[in-house]
Amino acid sequence: MIVVMKEGAATTEVAAVVEHLRNLGYQPQVAADALKTYISLGGPGPSFPAAELHELKRMPGVEEVAIPSPHYKLVARSHQLPDTIIHIGEKTIGGGRFTVIAGPCSVESREQLLGTAWVIKEAGADLLRGGAFKPRSSPYSFQGLGEEGLRLLAEARRETGLPVVTEVLSPEYAPLVAEYADVLQIGSRNMHNFALLRAVGEIRKPVLLKRGMAATLEEFLLAAEYLFSEGCREVILCERGIRTFERTTRNTLDLGVIPLVKQLSHLPIIVDPCHATGRRELVLPLSRAALAAGADGIMVEVHPQPEKALSDGPQSLRFDDFRRLMVEVRRLREALQDLPAT
Ligand code: PEP
Ligand code: MN
Repeated sequence: MIVVMKEGAATTEVAAVVEHLRNLGYQPQVAADALKTYISLGGPGPSFPAAELHELKRMPGVEEVAIPSPHYKLVARSHQLPDTIIHIGEKTIGGGRFTVIAGPCSVESREQLLGTAWVIKEAGADLLRGGAFKPRSSPYSFQGLGEEGLRLLAEARRETGLPVVTEVLSPEYAPLVAEYADVLQIGSRNMHNFALLRAVGEIRKPVLLKRGMAATLEEFLLAAEYLFSEGCREVILCERGIRTFERTTRNTLDLGVIPLVKQLSHLPIIVDPCHATGRRELVLPLSRAALAAGADGIMVEVHPQPEKALSDGPQSLRFDDFRRLMVEVRRLREALQDLPAT
């Protein structure tokens, strides 16, 4: 069980909750991220008396008392109170940073990838994305360049210094992709592929786990638990929209999971506004919303000529769109930092 304090809760309010929990026989521990303070019960202790829950929730400064699912353990905030911070080369995900991952949906050619990599690097992106093995709804669509795509990603990393994120489609390819990638992506369609989760978890490299398009938050965290159960400790969750009745957008971005994940888990969570909407013009406003909701970063698709892209052109940013997005994100970060705590 985790007591989540309101943003800007006073230290005296935190101290009062700690004292209250001590009087009930616990050894509470306190941790804070960029926005909030969390208090765990600490140690095995007695199970929390239901009658006390109401009083605890009403204490000044308390926002929520989060009770994690009994099904996931290692990814739960009650297992590890401080945020997980993931280091990839010189880049960091989590711990108050706002990490930007950008690049084409698919690696199509040397020119396309290298050109994009330099533009996003100069605009201030942190990591380069690009699919070499593509999960496509139709077997007749472009399936990716395979290992040649991985080689191009490695070349782009050598040239620009940007670490690379790329998708693993099946367990047998996991070791090959891991030879080239800094972060292994598990796509939405594979979030429930338990054999793949186990194979990727065993490799113990950072993993970008995308939410299944019909997965509940609990199923999402359980997929991360699969990775942890194989020894992987560096998992970045990615909210990429879920399927709803709404057809105007490709999916519906579920931003509510951002603060919920922060309550329930210590893992970082980023947002993919491109797959969430399928529409380029919605990427900037939803990137701003992701930042304001407390996400640890975004992943966006960028293409030199989206109208000629072999996949996901309509949701890919042009170079100038991406430059503008980086400027806007920086401005919003500054504005948020200037806001007085309430
Ligand atoms: C992707 O990021 O390239 C991708 C295929 O996304 P998703 O798995 O979220 O559909
Ligand atoms: Mn895509």
